[in-house]
Amino acid sequence: QALLSGERHFYFDPATQARMAEKLALENDLRQAVEAQQFVLYFQPRVDLARGRIVGAEALIRWHHPEKGLVPPAQFIPLAEETGLILPIGDWVIRTVCQQVAQWQRTERHVVPISLNLSAAQFKGGRVLDTLHQAIAQHAVKAKLIELELTESLLMHDPQAAISILSAFRSMGVRLSLDDFGTGYSSLAYLSRFPFDFLKIDRAFVAGVPDNVEDGAIAKVIIALAKQLNLRTVAEGVETEEQLSFLHHLGCDEMQGYLFSKPVPVEQFEQMLREHVRL
Ligand code: C2E
Ligand code: CA
Ligand code: CA
Ligand code: CA
Repeated sequence: QALLSGERHFYFDPATQARMAEKLALENDLRQAVEAQQFVLYFQPRVDLARGRIVGAEALIRWHHPEKGLVPPAQFIPLAEETGLILPIGDWVIRTVCQQVAQWQRTERHVVPISLNLSAAQFKGGRVLDTLHQAIAQHAVKAKLIELELTESLLMHDPQAAISILSAFRSMGVRLSLDDFGTGYSSLAYLSRFPFDFLKIDRAFVAGVPDNVEDGAIAKVIIALAKQLNLRTVAEGVETEEQLSFLHHLGCDEMQGYLFSKPVPVEQFEQMLREHVRL
């Protein structure tokens, strides 16, 4: 160590080195996870207050790590995007959602649309279109039971390409929602040019209402704007009765959040659907 001290600046400090080693190990684990299919989908219900029932759910991925247990997406999706592993993972999510919905079409009296999240890389070369088209055909899913959640930053990556892919989604008959609205570029010009059905108000604003006046004002403007553009609004991360009634009075159409349910494993979600949960 002392001998090397003169050229120490060529080396990463121990903390950085440890972080890099950990990241490399995680990347290896993630590669294996893709091979071994260590992923599962949880479902978080979406409720319509006017109709008083579950009107959909969002599929959210988790990684069943052999040693670490259930790993949340925030801890591996960024790495998956960085390494390209998001492509096979994203394909798996699309196929699994289609397969699951197809099964419900056969076994359940009451089926609701299921939404899934997409990453920018899946758009390159139209991969997401191919995968989705194939999965819908193979499982004979009703396209209107599949919903895609896209963020503004994903669209702004290549707006021209995005417009044509979104039109293709449109003609397939799937539903489209703009996720995390208010946090990204929020380009109003593009908002009107993209063919969305739903606008999801980001949890960042929902968390602030009703006490934070600015967040309340933003939520109000977003809901009014959505109505003008003929979009249905979904509030994310609703945790309290106060948030619920505030957003309800503003005319928010649907809500999702811990107040109703956390994301749950598939069996538990089926249970909720069967009980036809009324609020
Ligand atoms: P998101 O799309 O904004 O998903 C909503 C996140 O908010 C979920 O976290 C959900 O569990 C959480 N949430 C819902 N209601 C509440 C609430 O009332 N309070 C709080 N504190 N949180 C709430 P999750 O499941 O950890 O997912 C995090 C992010 O990971 C997602 O954010 C999404 O961007 C990404 N993600 C999840 N699944 C996938 C996937 O299959 N593909 C891709 N590309 N990204 C995914
Ligand atoms: Ca989402
Ligand atoms: Ca979101
Ligand atoms: Ca979010």
